[in-house]
Amino acid sequence: MADYKITLLKGDGIGPEIVNQAVKVLDCAAEKFGFGVTYDEALLGGCAIDATGVPLPDETVAKCKASDSVLLGAVGGPKWDSQPGNNRPEAGLLGIRGALGLFANLRPSVIFGPLKSASPIKDEIIGGNLDVMIVRELTGGIYFGERGRKEVNGQPAAWDTEMYTVGEVERIAKVAFDLAMKRNKKLTSVDKANVLESSRLWRETVKRVAEDYPEVELNHMYVDNCAMQLVRNPRQFDVILTSNIFGDILSDEASMIAGSIGMLASASLSGSKLGLYEPIHGSAPDIAGQNIANPLATILSVAMMLRYSLDQSEAADAIEAAVAKVLETYRTPDIYEEGFTKVGCDEMGDRVCEAL
Ligand code: ATP
Ligand code: MG
Repeated sequence: MADYKITLLKGDGIGPEIVNQAVKVLDCAAEKFGFGVTYDEALLGGCAIDATGVPLPDETVAKCKASDSVLLGAVGGPKWDSQPGNNRPEAGLLGIRGALGLFANLRPSVIFGPLKSASPIKDEIIGGNLDVMIVRELTGGIYFGERGRKEVNGQPAAWDTEMYTVGEVERIAKVAFDLAMKRNKKLTSVDKANVLESSRLWRETVKRVAEDYPEVELNHMYVDNCAMQLVRNPRQFDVILTSNIFGDILSDEASMIAGSIGMLASASLSGSKLGLYEPIHGSAPDIAGQNIANPLATILSVAMMLRYSLDQSEAADAIEAAVAKVLETYRTPDIYEEGFTKVGCDEMGDRVCEAL
């Protein structure tokens, strides 16, 4: 029997509440699908600052590296706002991503049938379900390029540089093509190759990687057009592959098409099976400790973990189906509509287990 070691980084604010529900659901899935899970907890973010003085203790990195996967709640909150930049909870998050070599960020934009009305896009455009996956390069490009200030024509000026190596593009492209193979064999690579040299290298490299995936239908799109198409006709997309900065912007856009921040999961992957899974929302300090947070984004992050790191895709499918089923009846306050039964964080976890 497979036995997985999962490190839990519950973090701050609603982090512990939502991770506890996700663990409950993972335990149910383990029982149903016949695998074992053991957990180890480690500190990240504000709770780590309180206990050790730093947002990312060495012990946390070591525990994560020794595990099959990492489940993260959320970090940060007003309590730590006065910390210097390099000692803020968010610095811990960037630090753990770097330490684990997580270069690929996967963000699904999914509309669950019963939540259709939450999307700002008209139903005739969404046309039933939406399921788009954005694969964003996470450790290169302009966010990590050289930057500086200088004087130009007697005025202060500033510059940033976008650079990608062929190797960096190849490895993220492979992640996207592998994903496309597991999904609908359709991939859109997004760049600005009509203007940027780094985008031309990106496009050439993606085309070359595509030769190893003859079954995948590949097309290229400029980022400005993609931003428009996501709103005009999002169903044309299945997997979108793009750079760090373009992915940052497009994934926020795509997540809003799905409507609710409490529903969206994410995965950050390295070259190995080890991945870090977390909801896209923050620590929501305004509602922490009240048992009203929506745990579904974290529960759906567990489904991604099962699919991408643990090779338990049947269990992943089952969790997603259970979430869709539960939404037909039960809602946490953030997604509550008349005619549904209002439940707290804890009960939402129980209902998903029940449906599972
Ligand atoms: P960060 O900087 O960490 O992203 P933020 O303040 O930008 O934090 P969130 O912490 O995501 O954003 O919170 C934004 C709003 O959404 C808050 O009002 C919060 O209560 C709400 N929210 C976020 N996550 C959830 C959730 N899981 N369930 C219910 N409400 C949520
Ligand atoms: Mg935020």
